[in-house]
Amino acid sequence: MVKETGFYDILGVKANATPDELKRAYRKLALKYHPDKNPTEGEKFKQISQAYEVLSDAKKRDIYDRGGEKAIKEGCGGGGGGGSFASPMDIFDLFFGGGSRMHRERKGKNIVHQISVTLDDLYNGATRKLSVQKNTICERCEGRGSRKGAAQMCMTCHGTGMQVRVHQLLPGMVQQVSTVCHSCQGQGQRISQKDRCKACTGRKILRQKKILEVHIDKGMKDGQKILFNGEGDQEPGLEPGDIIIVLDQQEHPQFTRRGEDLTMSMELQLVEALCGFQKPVQTLDKRTLLITSHPGELIKPGDTKCVCNEGMPMLRRPFEKGKLIIHFSVVFPKANFLPKNKLKELERYLPVKVDEEQPESMDDDLYIYADLEDCDVENRKRHRHQHYYMDEEDYASTGGVQCQTS
Ligand SMILES: [Zn+2]
Ligand SMILES: [Zn+2]
Repeated sequence: MVKETGFYDILGVKANATPDELKRAYRKLALKYHPDKNPTEGEKFKQISQAYEVLSDAKKRDIYDRGGEKAIKEGCGGGGGGGSFASPMDIFDLFFGGGSRMHRERKGKNIVHQISVTLDDLYNGATRKLSVQKNTICERCEGRGSRKGAAQMCMTCHGTGMQVRVHQLLPGMVQQVSTVCHSCQGQGQRISQKDRCKACTGRKILRQKKILEVHIDKGMKDGQKILFNGEGDQEPGLEPGDIIIVLDQQEHPQFTRRGEDLTMSMELQLVEALCGFQKPVQTLDKRTLLITSHPGELIKPGDTKCVCNEGMPMLRRPFEKGKLIIHFSVVFPKANFLPKNKLKELERYLPVKVDEEQPESMDDDLYIYADLEDCDVENRKRHRHQHYYMDEEDYASTGGVQCQTS
């Protein structure tokens, strides 16, 4: 039992979620609530990141499960570093492979996009065109924002881009606060209105649409990232960021992927299970497999069989494939499907049940014959519950009536 489920609830998973389920949940939510897409949901983005930061770390998850959020904030359970959370952006970058904070400072922002793919796309490979908005350095002014040499040093901050202000807290006690220079917005230079570049109005960067061609290779997986190096946001003086495409696989109505294998379920009639069958299955590349069980082979309810080399193709080795795993269920015929006289006939063909406990002579006095009835345990429980509440209500209402009549 966990003490509280708040972090699990934020990610929309159960308290017994596997690391993989946590990853999936974080991925979906982080992309949905990223400030780039949802500027008003900053708080939600922070919560998601904090919940994931704790639950994705086995040690921190254990502390949380035992002591709740309070234990995490106090950082108890040893191991240091407890108490404070990492920045949501760092968690995001770490997850999506954007690199460390140091890295980010030398590079423009990464752009992360999720694209929805089908299992067919991952099996056959596919190409998608994706339109991305990104910042590019203005070509007209080459990122200067003005004619060459027209920029002048900002006199407010003397070109540093920062302003230091001194606050007096108490007599004799002052606090120094550095803030971004308001006159030049941290640029360290000013450009007079008439010298500003007409294309970017002095902002140095332009918002541009870029069409990316995303190649989805055979065998790629749900959650796989495709990197477009240097295609992210450009900023003057910085190396451009990357565009990271994350694949999000939609569920398939028939097949479920387990690593390199595909699983599916197949329903057989009793006669097929006993006497053999041939059933067509359409593969993800539209071939038809004739699943064959020869007469004499027998499929029991719950049996699992597989077809080799009909699973998912391996990444970069698409001619090698995993297995197609089939879980069988067997549908029995309806009650009274045979007239009673024919049942005797059928019994002749089926193996006789051997019961060692069976006594030599069936003495009627020794046995109580018990008939079988349908039982729906869940249903009966609920009925009993309803009954109980009704009784209580009845009791209360009769009490009320009595009061009124007396
Ligand atoms: Zn410009
Ligand atoms: Zn300034």
